[in-house]
Order: sequence, then C-alpha cells, then structure tokens
Amino acid sequence: MAAVAEQAKNLRTPIVCVMGHVDHGKTSLLDKIRGTAVVDKEAGAITQHIGATEVPLSTIQTLCKGIMGGNVVVPGLLFIDTPGHHAFTTLRSRGGALADLAVVVVDINEGFQPQTIEAINILKQFKTPFLVAANKIDRIQGWTPTKNMPFIKSFANQPEFVKNVIETRTYELVGKLSDLGFSSDRYDRIRDFTRNVGIIPLSAKTGEGVPDLLMMLIGLAQKFLEDGLKLHVTGPGLGTVLELKEERGLGYTIDTIFYDGEVRTGDTIVIGGKNKPIVTKVRALLKPKPNREIRIEEKFDRVNKLTAAAGVKILAPNLEEAMAGSPVRVTKEANLESAINEIEAEMERARIECDELGIMVKADTLGSLEAIVNELRAADIKIGMAEVGDISKKDIINAETINDPLYRVVLGFNVNMLPDAKDYLSNTDIKVFNKDVIYHLIDSYKEWERVQRELAE
Ligand code: GDP
Repeated sequence: MAAVAEQAKNLRTPIVCVMGHVDHGKTSLLDKIRGTAVVDKEAGAITQHIGATEVPLSTIQTLCKGIMGGNVVVPGLLFIDTPGHHAFTTLRSRGGALADLAVVVVDINEGFQPQTIEAINILKQFKTPFLVAANKIDRIQGWTPTKNMPFIKSFANQPEFVKNVIETRTYELVGKLSDLGFSSDRYDRIRDFTRNVGIIPLSAKTGEGVPDLLMMLIGLAQKFLEDGLKLHVTGPGLGTVLELKEERGLGYTIDTIFYDGEVRTGDTIVIGGKNKPIVTKVRALLKPKPNREIRIEEKFDRVNKLTAAAGVKILAPNLEEAMAGSPVRVTKEANLESAINEIEAEMERARIECDELGIMVKADTLGSLEAIVNELRAADIKIGMAEVGDISKKDIINAETINDPLYRVVLGFNVNMLPDAKDYLSNTDIKVFNKDVIYHLIDSYKEWERVQRELAE
C-alpha cells in the first residue's frame, strides 16, 4: 500500500473509452454517466471538458453510497465523449492507445455481435484493460426498477426468474469472452482483473448498475496502477488531436485530449500535420462554459493553464493542416528540433508491414488502419499495401500492376474516393470496396472472393 500512496502523487485521471456494437447503448451509457451525477444532487459535480467528461472520485463514492473500500488513489475517470472503436483507435499516445481503460457495451438481450468482437480484439491488441457493461437489463420481462444502488446489492431484490435470466445471459457472455481468450467470473466474484474481465449488468436507460460500473472502473484502474499503469502528470504536455474544427469568429481550432503533462497559453506546440509537423504557439486554451448561453461567442471559457488528463480546445495559428489522431507536444524553443523529430517519428509509425502479394488497404487514420489490418489478417486475407489516406488514382494504378485477379482490389475504410480515381477506375477491372464498418468490408470482400474462385473453376 505504501507503494500506491507514493504513486498517488501527481496522479492523473485515467482516460476511458466506451466501445461496442451499434445500438447496444454506448451513447446512452455516456449520456447516463453525465446525467446521473447531474440529477443526483448529493452526488456532486461532473466536469465537462472539450470532447470528454470527468467524473471525480468523490462523485462516484457518493453514488456508490460509500461502499467503495479505502485507500483509493485514482482521482476519478475521464470519459471520451465520442464512443466507438473508431474513436479508440484514432486517439493514440506514443504508439499506444490514448484510453487507459475501456467499457465494452453489450446488449444483454442480443449478446456478442460482430462489432463487440472487433472492439475486444482491438483492446487485446493494445493491451487495454476493460469491463463489459451488459446493458438493457430493464428490457428483461419482470424487471423491477429499484433505487437501491449499487446494483450488486439491489440485484438480490429482483424476482427469481429475472435473476435467472441475467445469470444465464451473463454466463453466455462469459463463454464468448472465453472464446476470445479471456476468463471471467460472475460479476459479483471478480478477483483478478488481469485475467478476469468484469461483467456488470446495467441499464443505461434507468441508470441501475451505472454506479457499479464506475466503481469497478476505479477498481480496475487501481489494480493496474499497482501493476505499473503509468498515470502520472509530469513535464510538458502530450496529447492527441480529437478533431480539427473551424469555429465561427475564432478560425481553426484543435480539440485535444492531453494525457500527460501541462500546457499553457503562449506555449510552443508541435502537431502532426498532413505533410509535415506544424509548429505554432497556443493563442488560447478554451473549455466549455458551464450552463452556457446559446450565443456562440459565449460558448467557451479561457483558461491559462491545463493539466492532464483533460480535453481542451486549442486556438492557434496555422492549424489548417492538423489531422485527427495526430500527436500534440508542448516544447521549449530550445528543444524544438527534437520535438519535431519525435512527432515525425510518431507519424512514421504509420508504416505497416505487408505481405509480398495481397490487396491494397486505405484507412482514414493510423489507428483505424491498424485495426483493419489486424481484422484482415485474422480473416486470412493477404495485404500487399496499407496506407492512411483517401483512395487515389495512384492506388488504382498500383492495383493494376498485380497479376493475381484476387488481389486486384482496393479496400477503403472510412475514406473517400478522389474524383480522378473514380474516373480512372471506370476503365479498369479493379475492384474497390469502400465502407465504414470493418466487418461489412471483410464480408463483402470474402463474398466477392468466393464468387471469383467459383468463376475461375
Ligand atoms: P449506440 O449505437 O451503441 O450508441 O446505442 P444508443 O445509445 O444510441 O442506443 C440505441 C438504442 O437503444 C436507443 O434507442 C436507446 O434508447 C436504446 N437503449 C440504450 N440503452 C438502453 C437500456 O439500457 N434500456 C433500454 N430499454 N433501451 C436502451
């Protein structure tokens, strides 16, 4: 425990990303997390960041009615407001994932679906600890809403057959997790977070189980902290661009999540750009105005200094070429050269090792490219080239140089096809698949490949 107390110094808030299959309740869960604290007046505040919501430990403790054990050093949780694995993979920190922890939302009535498995495979790849939120328990017939949170206790008050349904379905989830290489005890007997994935039945609609999820996330962070999860705030700010936005009256801004260190107005920052690193100076750091009026000019509060983990809007000159998912680094003028080199090196990691012969893959960000490449490999599809960017005429020309008809293909994930590529394509036999859901892309390619093989026979 002494080691943990020592670690508590300068400890930053862990960053949490919510993932899962479409319609399983990611957005509703995030809304509920924001709303629960607002509605429960005793619970205390949450803090709205740009692109993220912070739930302090004191709020979670109040929501859990004090049943959380002592010695908690994790100061709270910072939830990324954009759900989905696209957000997870886009937001990178020095080659790893920006999110320290994740919640995989599963509709308990539907069980695992393709994007649930995709999400878990991505988390596995990034070695990110996660919990499963078994959502929509209120849909189970006979469910009696109770105010007795936390859920783990109130669950005992449910009618016997409801308990049975939850138990059966939770065990189904345990089985699915086991197929993916994880073990999981029942949610009320979780001991070892490193091997066991906690499953928390809850309802993003009624809010039941949500405090339990928050409590378990704190527990998960605490456990991993003891195992060396790095959550310290030191030195110059390091962050990732969430989005490039043009704000009326302000010009270009970057919504940025800082996962380490500090940033101040006037600081020199280096940002990964479309072609080369951008060097600029922070003109203003903007945070959302609490209870803001609708008038645009009153949307933000200016702050002079910010400490990780935090989401902030940065106003600075020359941001036009900044890209979502790019690294941001605060630097002293004297270290500018090495900061630029480091940003270049980070952008350079965009290169992915390819097979000698295979299809061409394009994706919108490095993270999503890695995610799709991994899923393609898992599906035994050979990859000849993998790059970040829209589908260009050059890509079609490259595909034409391949003789094997099964590989005269370009797969695009979350990208556009440039007009000259479209024109050129119409005079070739190159096949292009362009979609924004990984498994749709893989299914379409596999189906096409099957037909091609049949035709060839
Ligand atoms: P997402 O696509 O994963 O972000 O899913 P949403 O949060 O948009 O939810 C999809 C649908 O399920 C919406 O109509 C929600 O109102 C509904 N929903 C989400 N969570 C729950 C829940 O706990 N109970 C019930 N009954 N409906 C829910």
